[in-house]
Order: sequence, then C-alpha cells, then structure tokens
Amino acid sequence: MASSIGFGYDVHRLVKGRKLFLGGVWIPYPLGLAGHSDGDCLIHAIVDAMLGAMGEGDIGRLFPDTDPGLKDVRSGKLLKNVAARLSRKGFLIRNIDTVIVAQEPRLAPYVETMKEELGRMLGLAADKIGIKAKTNEGLGLVGRQKAIACWAVVLLQKKAPRKR
Ligand code: MG
Repeated sequence: MASSIGFGYDVHRLVKGRKLFLGGVWIPYPLGLAGHSDGDCLIHAIVDAMLGAMGEGDIGRLFPDTDPGLKDVRSGKLLKNVAARLSRKGFLIRNIDTVIVAQEPRLAPYVETMKEELGRMLGLAADKIGIKAKTNEGLGLVGRQKAIACWAVVLLQKKAPRKR
C-alpha cells in the first residue's frame, strides 16, 4: 500500500512573559516560546512533517502569522485541523518520530504526557509517537537557552479504499 514520509523542523525563541508549551503540554519554566500562536515548536514541526508527507506546503501557508484569529492559538488546534485534512485525503498516520533540542528545562519528566496528549489529538496510540529530548551540549543559541528547536518525521499510509 502506498506510503509517504514527511519531515519538519521548527525553532522558536525563548522569552519572558510567555508560558512554555511543547507537544500540547504546559511545562512550568520562567521562559516561554515566542510566536504568533502559543509557540509550540514540537507541534509545528509535526504539522510541517504531516503537510510535507501529503504534498501540501507548510504551516505558514496554511496558518499565516498575519491572521489575527490565530493570535495565541493553542497549536493543538492547528494539529487537529491538519489531522482532519489528512484523514479526508484518505491518509492515516503510521508513526511519528521527533527530537526536541532544549538546554533547559529538563523535559524527560514530560515526555510520556506529551506522547499521550499528541496521541489523543491525533487518534494515535502513544507508542506510535517517539519523542527524544536532548540538550545542545551548551552550544549555540539553543545551548544558551535562547531557543528551543524541534525535528519531526511522519510516515503516512493511504487508507484501503472502501469495498463496495
Ligand atoms: Mg513555529
């Protein structure tokens, strides 16, 4: 059966006065991710991977940061929108794998909750979602806690056509 793979990347600056959301989960930390939406760069990377696998542009084209209706929107809403689009086009998600690179905070305690939350939003078992949280060994802007970066790959499969 036909399958297709997609790849996504996103980075957001860490700033004061914002809540930190990753994978749809609020993580207590003095800084949060800047952005027109809630800045959840893990979800943004997954959305871009999903769109890439469907051959459909990118998150910025679908949800422009000039849209006042998307100001501070929870990224889960965008994820669910793209998941519905994917299903309408006859695809299902086989699995997702991701990497979060953040010097701080320590994300390991939140990984299972993120998998459950993403799985709930996508209708996907949590064990079909990989999340590896790494530091950047103190190197570069991510290493100096100026930003968090995320990568994601998604494997899609075309659903079997309904038998008549
Ligand atoms: Mg983004």
